[in-house]
Amino acid sequence: MGRLFLVLVLLAVSLTVVKLIKNKLDEPRPKLKKGSSRKDSTNNKMVKCLHCGLHIPEKEAIKKGDKIFCSLEHAEQEI
Ligand SMILES: [Zn+2]
Repeated sequence: MGRLFLVLVLLAVSLTVVKLIKNKLDEPRPKLKKGSSRKDSTNNKMVKCLHCGLHIPEKEAIKKGDKIFCSLEHAEQEI
């Protein structure tokens, strides 16, 4: 009886270990998708402030006509 119990325990342990390894192997895959990194590179276009020359993402830039500024302060000073 002792041996049978030991075999069953070893089977259960090896099955859980295999499951854990499979889960670990599956996890990193979604992070390696190329789609997300492509989106980041297109959205992160850098523009230069006309007043102080600071480079900032286009999304955060203040635009006054054709001129681009890093903040409202600099936009008002330049006008
Ligand atoms: Zn500025």
